[in-house]
Amino acid sequence: MTANDKISGALPTPTLHAENGVLTLEGLALPELAEQFGTPSYIYSKAALTAAFESWQQALAGRRALVCYAVKANSNLGILSVFARLGAGFDIVSGGELARVLAAGGHAGKVVFSGVGKTRDEMRQALKAGIRCFNVESAAELERLDAVAGELGVLAPVALRVNPDVDPKTHPYISTGLKGNKFGVAFADAQALYRRAAALPNLRISGIACHIGSQLLDPAPVAEAAQKVAGLVDRLADDGITLDHIDLGGGLGIRYRDEAPPVVADYLAPLLKVFEGRNEELYFEPGRSLVGNAGLLLTRIEYLKPGETKNFVIVDAAMNDLARPALYDAWHEVVEVVAPSTESQVYDVVGPICESGDFLARERRLAVAEGDLLAILSAGAYGMTMSSNYNTRPRAAEIIVDGGQAHLVRARETVAALFADEKPLS
Ligand SMILES: *Cc1c(COP(=O)(O)O)cnc(C)c1O
Repeated sequence: MTANDKISGALPTPTLHAENGVLTLEGLALPELAEQFGTPSYIYSKAALTAAFESWQQALAGRRALVCYAVKANSNLGILSVFARLGAGFDIVSGGELARVLAAGGHAGKVVFSGVGKTRDEMRQALKAGIRCFNVESAAELERLDAVAGELGVLAPVALRVNPDVDPKTHPYISTGLKGNKFGVAFADAQALYRRAAALPNLRISGIACHIGSQLLDPAPVAEAAQKVAGLVDRLADDGITLDHIDLGGGLGIRYRDEAPPVVADYLAPLLKVFEGRNEELYFEPGRSLVGNAGLLLTRIEYLKPGETKNFVIVDAAMNDLARPALYDAWHEVVEVVAPSTESQVYDVVGPICESGDFLARERRLAVAEGDLLAILSAGAYGMTMSSNYNTRPRAAEIIVDGGQAHLVRARETVAALFADEKPLS
């Protein structure tokens, strides 16, 4: 199959296959989904979502642990409902994400709230909902949370997010655990801040958290961070501050091109070794590794535009739908949906947006014609959630396929809805 030739080994989505030269997801032919729902559309596989979640559950079997799906990777209610039913907790970074989790059937009691800029309103909303823990990222946030909890007459459960100053060796935009970073409290300050938290009347110290970065391919930096955190937990115990959980964040990478991320069990093995014989419950906050390779972006070719130095494929998806190539120069596999009969050429795959940065892939060998479909793979994470309406482009539809059925979980936006809240100046 030509589509597969470009990828060493299998396609990165376990439920994506070529059948008689046509790409299918969970057995559903992508051209039929394009007919039914239009393009561009994000299409996710429930079986792939489930398999990804279960690989975390299995790797943690026998250990007291909670897998909190990082909602920002993909916050569609359909996706959240799949994870809620599987028993997941959720890692949120805004009040909006909390509302989504609850609307999708998730339990507030399994929600942890991360982020450096929580507002008073967001704190109130989360306290009233009864979330499991606030991952507090600064001294000022600690004081504010104490005050807000006091006004409501409740105790706020807190963990301090510490910054272990470990280099995760990933893209600088997605590394979060280094000293120069806005995230977490400095490791050296953590103990004093815990003492301060213990003295505040409306806080209940629950745990400690760290998250060092994203698209991690090597478990060693995370294990190093875990080792540092475990040492700190012991020093806190000497101070009479005992923790019931340790949150090790998210960050496990996926294969986009030829990366070789560890399977979940191998990623966790060195971490679990650090915590052998300890009683704290372990929390994890995976995002990308649960959804990234469970979804693709389906797009149709509008034009071929041969040029003097470059050939362009102009598709109906753009940087507003999938920002990662423009934002991080990220690489996504692009596959012909129907096995090609034409000659191949090298193309840049670009969208219609008026920006030179509007590309989805560069210098790819494709055999394509106007009207053909392309699948942009590994688009389940940080795809739709980072989309925008730039150029007044309605956002894509989202579909979950499940055992031979396709469910529309987000209708394509209408242009009218895009400016329904605006008005001309009278
Ligand atoms: C983004 C984020 C995650 C998820 O990261 P992934 O790389 O998608 O697994 C988890 N925790 C926190 C605090 C985050 O900011």
